[in-house]
Amino acid sequence: MDAPAPPWASTPADSPLDTDSNTCSNAGMRWNEQEKVAGLFGVKGLVRSVRTPEFAGMTFHEVLAKSALNRVPKSSGMPFSWTINPYRGCSHACVYCFARSTHRYLDLDAGEDFDREVIVKVNAPEVLAAEVAKPKWSRELVALGTNTDPYQRAEGRYGLMPGIITALADHATPLSILTKGTLLRRDLPLLARAAEDVPVEIGMSIAVHDDTLQQAIEQGTPTTTARLATVRAAADLGFRVTVFIMPVLPKLTDSREHLDAALRAISEAGAHRVVYGALHLRPGAREWFFEWLGREHPELLPRYRRMYANSPYASREYRTWLRARIDPLIDRYGLRGSRDEDYGERGALGTRGDRSATGTSSIAIGAEGLPQLQAALF
Ligand code: SF4
Repeated sequence: MDAPAPPWASTPADSPLDTDSNTCSNAGMRWNEQEKVAGLFGVKGLVRSVRTPEFAGMTFHEVLAKSALNRVPKSSGMPFSWTINPYRGCSHACVYCFARSTHRYLDLDAGEDFDREVIVKVNAPEVLAAEVAKPKWSRELVALGTNTDPYQRAEGRYGLMPGIITALADHATPLSILTKGTLLRRDLPLLARAAEDVPVEIGMSIAVHDDTLQQAIEQGTPTTTARLATVRAAADLGFRVTVFIMPVLPKLTDSREHLDAALRAISEAGAHRVVYGALHLRPGAREWFFEWLGREHPELLPRYRRMYANSPYASREYRTWLRARIDPLIDRYGLRGSRDEDYGERGALGTRGDRSATGTSSIAIGAEGLPQLQAALF
C-alpha cells in the first residue's frame, strides 16, 4: 500500500531556531519560550521548532528519530511487545493524563508544556518501514496510543499514521490503535484494507459522558458525540471496537445515571465491549489534577486528597464498589466482549472480523496492573 507523502517531507530542514516561512518567527517568542526551545537542543535529532497559525498556542518540535519501534519489557505484563509513539506530549490535554511526567525528561513541565510543546518524530514512517523490513523482525503485535495519542491534533498536520499503518500491514505485522481522536476516521478505509492482511484492533477512549465536564477536563479532545460517531464508523466497517471508560472519576462520573447513559450510548454506537478503570494519579498528573479540581470542584478536593493520600490508586474498597455498580450495567448492554480477548490472552482490543469467540467476561483494570496498563494504554 502506498501512503501519501507527509507534509513535512517537502519542507526543508531549517536550523533548529528557524520556523516555517508561514509560521510565527522565534523572534516573536517570549524570552522564557526561547529558553525552552534552546533546552530542547539536547533532544537527539531535533531539526526545528515550528509554530503555525492553524495550531495557535502549540509548538511542534520536529525530530528525526533513529528508531520508531519501542520494545516493551516482558516484565511489564503487557499483551504486546512493541509500541510506536509518533508524538510526545499531547494536545488533547486531559487533566488526568498519566503521561504528563514523561515531559520532564525533556526539561519541559508536566502541565501546560505537555499540552502545548509536542515532539514530532517526523520520519517515523520511513524509519519504521526500514525496521519492519529486516528479516529478523518478529512481526509481533505493535500497539499505538500507548503513551500519547497518535490521532491528536498534530496528526492533522504531519500525517504520520497512514505511513505507519502501511509499513506494518505491508510487513505482516498486527497492530492496535487506542485513541480519543476522531481523525481516526480519515484512516478507517486504510485500516480496513490493512485488516484484510493482518489483525487490526481499534480502541476508542470515551470516559466522560457529560459535555460540560468533558470540555473542562479533556479540553483538547473531540466531543463525546464525535467519538461515539467514530466508533459507529469503525463498527460499520466491521471492526469490533473496544471502548475504554478510563478513568472513572469518583463522584464525578461514577453515578449510576452517568454510567448507565455512557454504556447505553456506547452500545448504540456499535461498540463490541468496554474496558474500565478508576482514576489513578501519578506524580505529574497528580499536582495538575488537584489544581484543576480545586478550581472546578473545590468541594471534592478534601475527599480526593484523602482518597489518594497514600497511593496513586483508588482504594480497593472503591474499586470493589465500582465493579459492583458497573458490571451489571455492562451485562445489561451486552458489552462484556469475549473471554478469549482478555488481556494476556489475545491482546488488548477488539479485532476486526473474527467472530468465533465464545464465552463472556468484562475487563476491570485492577490497581495492581494499573500503572503499567494505564501507561501502556494512554
Ligand atoms: S490521556 Fe491520552 S489523549 Fe489525553 S492527554 Fe494523555 S495521551 Fe493525550
